[in-house]
This record gives sequence, C-alpha cells and structure tokens, in this order.
Amino acid sequence: MTGIRDHAGALAEALAAAYPDAACELDFRSPYELLAATILSAQCTDARVNQVTPALFARFPDAAALAAADPAELEEIVRSTGFFRSKARSLLGMARAVVERHGGEIPARMDDLTALPGVGRKTANVVLGTAFGLATGVVVDTHVARLSGRLGLSRHADPERIERDLMALFPAESWVAVGHRLILHGRRVCAARAPACGSCSLESICPKVGVGKKRAPGPAARGPKASRNKRKAKA
Ligand code: SF4
Repeated sequence: MTGIRDHAGALAEALAAAYPDAACELDFRSPYELLAATILSAQCTDARVNQVTPALFARFPDAAALAAADPAELEEIVRSTGFFRSKARSLLGMARAVVERHGGEIPARMDDLTALPGVGRKTANVVLGTAFGLATGVVVDTHVARLSGRLGLSRHADPERIERDLMALFPAESWVAVGHRLILHGRRVCAARAPACGSCSLESICPKVGVGKKRAPGPAARGPKASRNKRKAKA
C-alpha cells in the first residue's frame, strides 16, 4: 500500500501544480442552485448548463418556487441541456422532497441528499464539497473514473468502488480538490479517445493503464461465423 500511496501523493502534487485553482465550473450562488445545476449537467457540458440556469433561477429562485413549477414550462426552460423530460422530473421531485422533508432548505448530509429523487452519490458529493465545504467523498464522474484507471489508482469500473479506492489513497482534506483537478485534467488533456500523453504534466509518473490498447474487433471483422452466431443470439 505504501508504494501506491506514494504514487497517489506524487500525482496529487503534480495535479495541484498543474491546476492550483481548479474549481467547479458550474455557476451557482447557493446549495439549491448548485444542486439544480448538477442535476442538469448529466450528459451535458457545464457551459451549456450555465447558459440555461440564469433563466431557470430567475423564474424559480428557490426549492419552494421550483416545487410549484408547471412541468411543461420547466421542460421548455431546460430543453437545451438534453434529456429534458427526465431532468425536469428530477428537478421537480427533488424540489418537492426538499420542501416536504427539509422545509425548503437543501440538506447538508449525504444520506438526506441521496434520498432525494434524481440525486446520486456523485451529485451529493458535488453539493457537499463545493457548496457546503464538506469533504464527504470524492466526486467520481466519467472523467475521474477513466483517469483513476489510467493513473493506476483503481482497478474498478463501479463509481462507488473507485471512490472508496480514492478515499483510501488521498487524505480527506484533499478529496474535493483532487476531484476538481482530475475532472479538469480529463477534460483538457487525458481525453477518452485521444489522451495527449506527449504534452501531459503527469506523463513521467503515469502508468497509462489501458492506454493505446486496441478494442476487440466486432463480429463482422472476426469472420462470417461470428456474425452468424451474433444474429442467432439476438433472435
Ligand atoms: S500520461 Fe496520458 S494517460 Fe496518463 S494522465 Fe497523461 S494523458 Fe492521461
């Protein structure tokens, strides 16, 4: 464990040097706004969410106002973030539960947050770490999951198991910053399809697990028999 802890420490230092001011890129002024913006950020860029939230928060400034929203109007406001029907449903469900269970205030506890409709552990960690300043875990989004594997920090694919590995490797006071920095590095350098290893500041200490491996060929590329078998399996 000492070896991997030293490795994690070296990565944390290099990430801190590369992204000293890394922070959440969603615009917000309150825990309510960050929670709503994070729900909208699923499968969507933060820049797009930031274009939509000013109108959303002007119309629905708090959880009580959002809880009383007309679903069709809400869908229209969030439409450009994609999956707008399901996101509008999550926003409404979240707001109603916040009003009913917490008097309209966003709770600052992991269990209370993850009990809200549309709120998983990743979203709860974003809100707790960034809006409340509480280090309850590490945000594991698609970038953090990918980088955790490539950097040799976790062998798991499941976000909760990755998070447990990261929490064991980094001190609690760095969990929030490490999450922000890994997300930025994934966005800017270590992209899913084409990681820019040649210009990466972590290159000398990154084991590049899985990088450059070719994906297994599909059935057509493996020959007609494989294709036939696939068709049979689907029937
Ligand atoms: S060296 Fe390559 S794989 Fe490793 S973090 Fe940098 S870009 Fe990603």
